[in-house]
Amino acid sequence: MSFAVINPATEETIVTLDSAGIDETDAAVARAKAAYPAWRAVSPADRGRLLRRLATLVEEHHEELARIESQNVGKPIVGARGEVGMVADVFHFYAGAVDKKHGETIPVAGGIDLTFREPLGVVGLIVPWNFPLNISSWKLGPALACGNTVVLKPAELTPLSALRLAELALEAGIPEGVLNVVVGKGSVVGQRLVDHPDVAKIGFTGSTEVGRGVMQGAAATIKRVTLELGGKSANVVFADADLERAAAAAPYAVFDNAGQDCCARSRILVERSAYDRFAELLVDATRNVKVGDPADDATEMGPLISAAHRETVASFVDGKTLFTGAAPTGKGYWYPCTLVEATNDDRIARDEVFGPVAALIPFDDEADAVRIANDTPYGLSGSIWTQNGARALRVARALETGVLSVNSNSSVRVSTPFGGFKQSGFGRELGMHALDGYSEVKNVYYSTEG
Ligand code: NAD
Repeated sequence: MSFAVINPATEETIVTLDSAGIDETDAAVARAKAAYPAWRAVSPADRGRLLRRLATLVEEHHEELARIESQNVGKPIVGARGEVGMVADVFHFYAGAVDKKHGETIPVAGGIDLTFREPLGVVGLIVPWNFPLNISSWKLGPALACGNTVVLKPAELTPLSALRLAELALEAGIPEGVLNVVVGKGSVVGQRLVDHPDVAKIGFTGSTEVGRGVMQGAAATIKRVTLELGGKSANVVFADADLERAAAAAPYAVFDNAGQDCCARSRILVERSAYDRFAELLVDATRNVKVGDPADDATEMGPLISAAHRETVASFVDGKTLFTGAAPTGKGYWYPCTLVEATNDDRIARDEVFGPVAALIPFDDEADAVRIANDTPYGLSGSIWTQNGARALRVARALETGVLSVNSNSSVRVSTPFGGFKQSGFGRELGMHALDGYSEVKNVYYSTEG
């Protein structure tokens, strides 16, 4: 069956693709299985060389890949360029990391004990539509570096950059069958990867709801899983913060990628004594966010991914709206930057909106801030704004979340671990930690007696 890939800024069809079914998924798994023995036998340094060539090709095709991503996801071209730059950096990082992950020798009675890091086999990688190329690279880099072969399933809405990346991987010299891309529905292709007896692990990024099903499905074959799921992160602003700086940054912590960001700090918690002043500054900063044509270098926020998603986002805005920004009218799935005053019990503060809508919530003191920030089933990201260093560290230790920044919106860096607490998932991507998720420890006892 064929389906149209849409440009969300114009509602025009970019291309029509065939949707794969169970047979095509099984064929891709079989190709990956056949390629596995030879790929795991390639020395780590040589796998690193191939990944470095892929990184260089991504750099050489930087603008082309950024335009594919911008057109297919509706993300501003400047942001898309940054993301493609990160993709190249991720492949460079794992090219350099793979031969630096060593085993151990452990002294034991009667002999010596050795540990090895072995690849898992065929891994299924399932990614969402919001950062298609970036998140693919976070999984592909460590998976390929460790000697696994891969079946990658991009989201149906945004498959184009992954298909181009697979072509570049072949051009880089990564052997056929090592990296396979299957385009199709999550309920068909994704589910088949979860169920397939020859798939050893699922690296999944997506919603908590689908992730829960992936974990259940993986139980049947005791597959390994890494789950990077939803978030409802807090941006905690204390009265002793540099309020101008915090307010200037806050819109980009939630409206970046039109709010379709698992790390969106969509709950802005503000100390009551600074609430009115901060709200004023935040409205001014939000008014300045440039919404429009993603192909324009000046644009900071594009459209949402689809009409259906726009309806979901709109359904959250029923409280006290503090500010609604401007957005284009006519074709495209546009939605304005929106600030709503809320309590932490309101639906807008409980559920992931995944759109440019932020909830402002006052708090009384440090203990109240920590209580509210942790009062969520999620635990992915967050920020703390204060000029009191001791408080920053105290609150950072108290927050139940995997990734935090102090006086910054930053969430992801190539060399540092990324992942969630609680229902935001488990396992870590990026940095050296990701290599643990794509390899398994083997322990060998070697007798020195006789
Ligand atoms: P989604 O869960 O609907 O889909 C994610 C992927 O899973 C898609 O490729 C989809 O086709 C596939 N899928 C759907 N049903 C499946 C099934 N039954 N079995 C296997 N795969 C299936 O999520 P989405 O709407 O594409 O993305 C948005 C969500 O992703 C948000 O919740 C967001 O927070 C989350 N996200 C998390 C991170 C992170 O790193 N924690 C990063 C980006 C996005």
